[in-house]
This record gives sequence, structure tokens and C-alpha cells, in this order.
Amino acid sequence: VTRVLSGVQPSGEMHLGNYLGAFRSWVAEQDQADAFYCVVDLHALTVPQDPEALRRRTLEAVACLLAVGLDPARCTLFLQSQVPEHPRLAWLLECQAAFGELRRMTQFKDKVGRHGGEGAEAGVSVGLFTYPVLMAADILLYQADRVPVGDDQRQHLELARDLAERFNHRFGPTFTVPEAAVPPVGARVMDLQEPTRKMSKSAASPQGTVLVVDPPEVLRRKVRRAVTDSDGEVRYDPARKPGVSNLLELLAASAGGDPTTLAGQFSSYGALKEAVADALVALLEPIRDRYATVLADPGELERVLAKGAAQAREVASATYDLAAERVGLLPPS
Ligand code: ATP
Ligand code: MG
Repeated sequence: VTRVLSGVQPSGEMHLGNYLGAFRSWVAEQDQADAFYCVVDLHALTVPQDPEALRRRTLEAVACLLAVGLDPARCTLFLQSQVPEHPRLAWLLECQAAFGELRRMTQFKDKVGRHGGEGAEAGVSVGLFTYPVLMAADILLYQADRVPVGDDQRQHLELARDLAERFNHRFGPTFTVPEAAVPPVGARVMDLQEPTRKMSKSAASPQGTVLVVDPPEVLRRKVRRAVTDSDGEVRYDPARKPGVSNLLELLAASAGGDPTTLAGQFSSYGALKEAVADALVALLEPIRDRYATVLADPGELERVLAKGAAQAREVASATYDLAAERVGLLPPS
């Protein structure tokens, strides 16, 4: 049976990009594969977090995943930090990863610019640098065949594949080599105020980021104020018309169809924006309702996480033990 794994950081509030690029595929995969999903709280620590806020957002992330339709009876939903094999395998993999290959990670370069301040690289954590190796460990521990992610994670997936192949080659067959599964539309949702930048939790421009739980009026206002351009023609052309093209992609991803064909149905930006807002409200409103219900029952969240951690550890510990033995560590005495 096919194994699927993916994760999300509790680094901010869940947004439309997370939903269209990742969560929607996660929900679909529950019935097609043996699916493991985690809230990757260790990854969130790579940039400064307020401890109290991190605890709250971690539970909110779990609630959001239940609200979008993950079902603990059909998938394993867990917290990364509750499965200690993640950082343990990350260490074994860090000792196989080359400094130079991590240096090439474009997300690191982006986040350095954002979090490093003066002196950029010197000011960011070592964890931000080694993050993609921890992500490789997340995936390889579960012997995942497929990893449903947004477009921005392709390079990290490539690294996970390289590390799996290298480890298998050096020490003998140990890990399944995973493949990225990126959805055909909605894989790169752009910020509504800055349509050349992806929508992002930790670099949120508040007006440019549609939250999964935004009330309808707020969502509509954000879409109406989305940055477009001044030529007035509705056409799908991401390079020259990033704002309008993003709106067309959002419409395609939420109501169906393809962005180029949809463009022909609108003669003004205003009409396009209304259609996008309607489609997004229809898509997100049921999720928002369920979110409120789920969040109101913290006891249930705890039970879900306890069950998820137990299931995840069973798989993760078997893989870790094998990898540790392969590299020459003695078994626990
Ligand atoms: P951060 O800014 O802290 O990195 P993020 O918004 O990028 O947060 P992640 O937790 O890093 O979210 O990613 C969770 C999943 O959402 C990943 O599969 C990622 O590819 C996907 N994703 C993130 N942003 C977008 C986006 N703008 N469009 C489509 N998918 C996205
Ligand atoms: Mg990210």
C-alpha cells in the first residue's frame, strides 16, 4: 500500500495557499493511501517564536486540519515533537548531507533575507540552515512514496530524494525514495497585495493573505482590494500580469475550469474579483464553521494527538532503528 506523508508548520495562521497547495490533497489521499500528516512544530522553531503563541498555534493548526476534513480514523495525524525519532534521524542524515548542497536551498536564502536583519546569514539560526534535512527525516521515517506539497517545496523534496539514494547506496537499502505530488492548480498561491511573492504564514502581508478561517466579509474585502494592473484586460499571463493571473488561478482552483479559458468569461477586473470572492466563500465557509466546533473541544484534540503519536512512533522507530544499525551504531543496551 502506498504511503503518504506531509506536514505544516504552526508558524502562523493557515492560509489559502496551505489549503489549495497542500491540505486539499491531504484530504483526498486519506482514502487512497496510508497517510501520515504532522504539524511540524520543530520546524517552526527555526525562526523566533513566542512560546505561548507557539503552543496556541500548534493546537489551532491541528484544529484546522480536522476542520478541512482530515479524519483520525482514516489517517495518522500527529505532532512532530511528540515523535523523538524525527530529530534523531535528522542527525544521521545531517552527517550525510553536504554543506554545499544545503547552501543552494532557495528557501534558506529567502528566509535569511527576511529573518537575518543586519549581517543576514550571521543572524539566522543553524536550524534554519539544516531545516531541509529535518524535513527529509520527517519523510524518510515513514518510508513515504508520495509527499503532497505546494510548488515551493519541490527543491526540498529533491534533497530528500538525494539523501535517501545516497544513504541507500552507502549503507544498503534503508529508505523508500519519495516523490513530490504537486497539484495542477493552486500549487503556488500568490500574495494578493504582492502577487510576485507566494502567500506565506510567516511573511504575511495581512491584507494580502486569505486565512482559511477569515469571515466572509473579510475575505471579500481582501479579494476586492487585490493588486492587479492598469491595462484592464482579463488575461492569464503570470509573467506580465501576476495579480490577474493569480485571481484566475484561484477561481480555477476553487470553482473548477482552467485559468486561460476562465479569463474569456470576464470583461472587467471587478467582475472577476466578485466571482473569485464568491467561489472562495463557498469553499471556505464550511471549514470555518467546523473549525469553531473543533477548537471548542481541547480534550478531543489531545486524544487525537495521543493516538496519532502512538501510531507514528511505531513506524518511525522501526525505520530509525534500521538506519542507526546501518551506520554502525550499537543497539540500545
Ligand atoms: P512559512 O512562511 O512559515 O514557511 P508557509 O505558509 O510557507 O509558512 P508551510 O508550513 O511552510 O507554510 O507549508 C505547508 C504546506 O503549504 C507546504 O506543502 C507548502 O508547499 C504549502 N504552501 C505554502 N504556501 C503556499 C502557497 N502560497 N501556495 C501553495 N502552497 C503553499
Ligand atoms: Mg513554508
